Amino acid sequence: MSTLTPSVPSTHAATNLEALIAHLQETALLSSSNNLLDWDQETLMPSGGLEWRARQQALLARMVHERTASLERGDLIAAVEADKQAMSDPASAALVREARRDHSKATKLPASLVEEMAKTSSLAKHEWAQARAASDFKRFAPWLEKLVALLRVQADCYGFARDGERWDALADLYEPGCTARAVASVFTPLRPRLQGLVAEIKAATKRPADGFNDFFVEVTRQEQLSKFVAESIGFDFERGRLDRSTHPFCGGTHCNDVRLTTRYNERCVNDALGSTMHESGHGIYEQGLNARAIGTPLGEAVSLGIHESQSRMWENQVGRSRAFWSWLTPRMLGIIGPDASRFSADDLYSAANVVEPGFIRVDADEATYNLHVMVRFEIERAVIGGSLEVAGIPALWNRLYKEMLGVDVPDDRRGCLQDIHWSMGAMGYFPTYTLGNLYASQFFETACAQMPGLVDGFARGEFSGLKRWLNENIHAHGRRYTPAELVQRVTGAPLSAEPLMRHLEGKLRPLYGI
Ligand code: ZN
Repeated sequence: MSTLTPSVPSTHAATNLEALIAHLQETALLSSSNNLLDWDQETLMPSGGLEWRARQQALLARMVHERTASLERGDLIAAVEADKQAMSDPASAALVREARRDHSKATKLPASLVEEMAKTSSLAKHEWAQARAASDFKRFAPWLEKLVALLRVQADCYGFARDGERWDALADLYEPGCTARAVASVFTPLRPRLQGLVAEIKAATKRPADGFNDFFVEVTRQEQLSKFVAESIGFDFERGRLDRSTHPFCGGTHCNDVRLTTRYNERCVNDALGSTMHESGHGIYEQGLNARAIGTPLGEAVSLGIHESQSRMWENQVGRSRAFWSWLTPRMLGIIGPDASRFSADDLYSAANVVEPGFIRVDADEATYNLHVMVRFEIERAVIGGSLEVAGIPALWNRLYKEMLGVDVPDDRRGCLQDIHWSMGAMGYFPTYTLGNLYASQFFETACAQMPGLVDGFARGEFSGLKRWLNENIHAHGRRYTPAELVQRVTGAPLSAEPLMRHLEGKLRPLYGI
């Protein structure tokens, strides 16, 4: 888009659009500073810095919110909306549409509600951690009740379609346009097919070799391996870093400064490798955003679900493929040492694809993962909709785990208290994980159809074709299209469960001889 010129001071802006862009970019300078403080807190900050850091971040967050909700922002948006010449350019019109969306969301919540939510969730997070340690849901329940009450008010402030439900208003924050009905229409047919596949796998007599999943490799070697793989698949270390943290994440300030983290388990190389591939996928998306649109909606990721599709594709479609392992195995032996030479590429491919139903979402394999998400979706939809009391969550949680995954949840710590999300007031968030898996499979099928031999190329370390395809078809657009429009545009079809099922069945049936 030719009109985007970063760093135009607002007093010198020649056009309404340039003035709006300058206002957006200054806000992004503040919010990205906050992102850097986040990264620092998770990687380097001594614990003594915690209290001051919380104040720094609260101040920056308030400044960002005030600027986004300001009359000045509203006036700048209205001026461009009235500017026929600016609005005749589709990219500019999309930029203004998204700026309007953010402004309107920021103005819909009364400051008192924002404050109440921030205070309650910060206390609730603390109580959740205590309740989880003690495996005592009753201790957390009053806090969750407060949060749910606030979320229902929040949903009413945002509003939702007449034929929709409150949950939609919350999900829209993470996945624009997402509704419970649309999610259910994909999840409902997907659920029995996943359950059927998992049941067949459980009953199978053939088991993939998994010896590599208990093979000691010291952390420094794993770190070297992680950096090698991230760089090989296309993460640019001139514009990014990879560090250690307790929970892996992708952060940073803008497309030219992307911060990844991963964690290492000496007894399981696939932990670090999987999370590095995952976070690199997020990072490749961030680095692929349009540098000329920095600080504007056209230089930002479109949604959590689409973001997750990028991480899942590199982690699963690429990193759990036979071709990938035939490329990596000989190179890996050079890094982690000759002791691993007793494992063949096939052994390593098998070890990366073991399916084992369990209680914990973050430890779940590709086949069972989406069932964990479905449990959470069903529960939060019922709680926000008012058909389920908070007190009823543990019983429903345990029943759904038995039904969907065939496991008996031993306690609430390994049950409904395992995730931090609800304690932070994030409901409507979980489905973006499964949407990510669905988008990833659908995008990847299209990429394979348009680039014959793509997967075979992975065996030769050729990953740049896929990266370029993602850059052009997905990353470059920023928020120009909604997630649903993007899927339709890139794949020629609406979101469907079929590509994910083809991906899982095509891989797991031969591995388990079913
Ligand atoms: Zn992710």
